[in-house]
Amino acid sequence: VTGARPGPAGQATVRRHNLALVLRTVAAEEPVSRARVAARTGLTRGTVSSLVDELLAAGFVAELSPARGVPGRPASPLQLNRAGPAGLGVEIGVDAVGACVVDLSGTVRALRTVRSGHRDEPPAAALEPLARLTAEVVAEAGGQGLRVAGAVAALPGVVGPDGVLERAPNLPRWHDVDVAARVGAALAPVVGDVVVRAGNEADLAALAEREAGAGPDFLHVSGGIGVGAGVVLGGRPFHGAGGRAGELGHVVVDPDGPPCSCGGRGCLEQSAGLEPVLRAAGVADLDALATAVEAGDARCVAAVTGAGRALGVAVAGALNLLDVPAVVLGGAYPRLGPTFADAVEQEVALRVVWRSPVTVRVSVLGEGAALRGAAQSVVRELVDGAPA
Ligand SMILES: [Zn+2]
Repeated sequence: VTGARPGPAGQATVRRHNLALVLRTVAAEEPVSRARVAARTGLTRGTVSSLVDELLAAGFVAELSPARGVPGRPASPLQLNRAGPAGLGVEIGVDAVGACVVDLSGTVRALRTVRSGHRDEPPAAALEPLARLTAEVVAEAGGQGLRVAGAVAALPGVVGPDGVLERAPNLPRWHDVDVAARVGAALAPVVGDVVVRAGNEADLAALAEREAGAGPDFLHVSGGIGVGAGVVLGGRPFHGAGGRAGELGHVVVDPDGPPCSCGGRGCLEQSAGLEPVLRAAGVADLDALATAVEAGDARCVAAVTGAGRALGVAVAGALNLLDVPAVVLGGAYPRLGPTFADAVEQEVALRVVWRSPVTVRVSVLGEGAALRGAAQSVVRELVDGAPA
């Protein structure tokens, strides 16, 4: 490290920087020896040893048993600690709440969701079951030696950079709500005064897809009562100027179509959101729809195909605008099966103007993706920023 002037402030900055560097190296190469960390970072072995001691004491890294059968002094490889600091993700959906704890490696260690009928209720109606569920998940993770070091709340709406939910068309009473503060207050009895941030559920689900290896550039579409999108470009989430990008559900696919919860007309959500699809199919729920589509029921196949085509039209527009080569269908969409994915793919192939093929695939993460991504974004920040 060059450029830092000697002196207490400069030294502290250099040390923080080097701690973060060592931690990132352990994360990228685990299990890894101190000697290899020194070689990878360009720091001396003595410096690495002292920094590793600090990271061990803070619970960020752990030592594995020494490798056996190797001549000379056995070395204890290092890895991210699977106990110790952890990330908490919570989700307030339109009709469900969820909570999830991941360890520093991003592995899910506890995850639960529960139905919650709070759609037309004030925020308190969702925060109460959320706090109960979080207490269960945090206790389960605590039993595995994990302690929550930060939290992110996933929401089905437009979240500004200040953590305020500006608007969630499907949660009409959540309007200009400081979600970070409200969730923080609701969860304080469970996790103490850790930092709580808020984000859009589709953006956070996209982060989970990235962690699962979706590649550097893709569009993730999250289907549910609402339809949201998260964009990852160059391995980084694209949030737009104010963190509000990705409102794919309110892209118009039929200007004369039915009115939408946002006040517009003919939005994608009115064609490819779950409620209009179930209505068109004439079935009560997603399970019934999936079964009927698989059995070849004509009305259900037509409903799912129509939704897939509408989504394909909107997605193709986004791809033409952004030059993104891959689409991941997430949320509840994987449950609509290949009939849906094929319809999306056909429409995309027809409408994207460049020559190279666009990959359309379904998510393997299921409906917990936003929860995972929320929790993983906490540990990502811990590992990239290192302990203060
Ligand atoms: Zn709309």
